[in-house]
Amino acid sequence: MSDVLDVVVIGGGLVGGLTALLLAQGGVQATVLDAAPILDEQKVLSVANPRVLALSQATIHLLKTVNVWENLARQMPYSGMQVWNKNGYGEINFGQSSQNTPSAEHTLGSMVEPSVLNLAIQQKMLQQLQDYRTQVKVIRVEQGVGVWHIHLADGTALKTKLVIGADGANSFVREQAFIDLDILDYKQAGLTCAIRTAQPHQHVARQIFLETGPLAFLPMASLKPEQDGYWQSIVWTLPDDYAEQYAALDDTAFTALLTRESHHMLGEVLEATPRAQFPLKARAAQQYVKAGLALIGDAAHVIHPLAGQGVNIGCLDAAILCDALLHDKKRGVWAHEQTLLRYEHHRKGQNDAMMHSMSAIGWMETTQLFPVVWARNFGLKQVEQHAALKDAFMSQANGLQVLKDTCYAV
Ligand SMILES: Cc1cc2nc3c(=O)[nH]c(=O)nc-3n(C[C@H](O)[C@H](O)[C@H](O)COP(=O)(O)OP(=O)(O)OC[C@H]3O[C@@H](n4cnc5c(N)ncnc54)[C@H](O)[C@@H]3O)c2cc1C
Repeated sequence: MSDVLDVVVIGGGLVGGLTALLLAQGGVQATVLDAAPILDEQKVLSVANPRVLALSQATIHLLKTVNVWENLARQMPYSGMQVWNKNGYGEINFGQSSQNTPSAEHTLGSMVEPSVLNLAIQQKMLQQLQDYRTQVKVIRVEQGVGVWHIHLADGTALKTKLVIGADGANSFVREQAFIDLDILDYKQAGLTCAIRTAQPHQHVARQIFLETGPLAFLPMASLKPEQDGYWQSIVWTLPDDYAEQYAALDDTAFTALLTRESHHMLGEVLEATPRAQFPLKARAAQQYVKAGLALIGDAAHVIHPLAGQGVNIGCLDAAILCDALLHDKKRGVWAHEQTLLRYEHHRKGQNDAMMHSMSAIGWMETTQLFPVVWARNFGLKQVEQHAALKDAFMSQANGLQVLKDTCYAV
């Protein structure tokens, strides 16, 4: 069995990369296979991404654990959140606005461009991992007796005791393992771009629920120091046909539309970068594990971007799986079926619940049925008026509770 690898991670994005780095820190060297090339640092840092990831406190803590956080070239902490209905009275506020960079005590999370984060993860993997391969094409993954065989397009064949599928929403590993997928097509798209507003964001993430769907203004780091505090990334959830139409507008018409639809919440929208569109579909793998195989991140679940939790729940998958594997390793056990099932048991229920609640909120917020309009206004008001309810919301969103019984507890 000497040529059998302990673990191969297929997909070296944020979730796969974090997993490999957590394992390396625990003394297990994973082989990482990624289809993407090494990023060009200068290119990544010279342009603003159209979108940002709202990273939770738990994700930030995990990135600090593997020494990636301090190597991020830029990020924008936020200390407040404001959510309200356009056609109602419901409004909810968390935290507080902040003129200057909020202190650690007041920071709710941070907005990071995906490419800036991927760059920092890649650089750390290049330093820490002995076998990190990029631009790799995996052509077959098949189960053998007690091992998985991985075949690459260049003719290489690998054998491993554990495959971790972290290869994103269209996971090839999931398909090769014959794991079925439930899909809910929202018939919506996320329209995103970076914008500059006349008024500063004051480190508040804002979301307004319009008839067509939620529009979020998320503070982001600026490429020009003199414009710091005025740039945000928008995520505008729209029915497919609206997204097409809005994406095709010229910059002047688009910024005018955005100023109007956002109710001038930060004054005039002065500038917008090219827009990107993401089709929105919820996906849930029916199983997260098989003997010797585990799915994590978007390979296991894709949720509506409404609450900015997609990658955060993926990072919690990584933490729970690594904690269980490293715990077993100390006892001389590796990738036992029961351990993998425990990981599935721990994560699948929570992730499915998150996915269903995002779908329900998405529906509630786009319907104009009177009882639903009333319920959502009433719901927002109730939460706004009860500190305990707000605390419960925040504790769910920051993810720290999930890490409580692991070696990554804060
Ligand atoms: C509009 C929008 C806004 C969002 N906003 C947020 C937010 O604010 N906060 C948040 O937490 N989440 C957000 N998300 C979700 C977030 O982007 C995803 O959950 C996250 O990127 C998933 O990370 P991952 O590592 O699982 O997958 P990916 O980032 O997709 O990485 C997969 C990796 O696998 C590699 N790969 C793919 N196929 C293969 C293969 N066959 N062989 C080898 N390698 C392969 C790819 O090269 C890539 O490196 C948003 C999503 C959308 C669409």
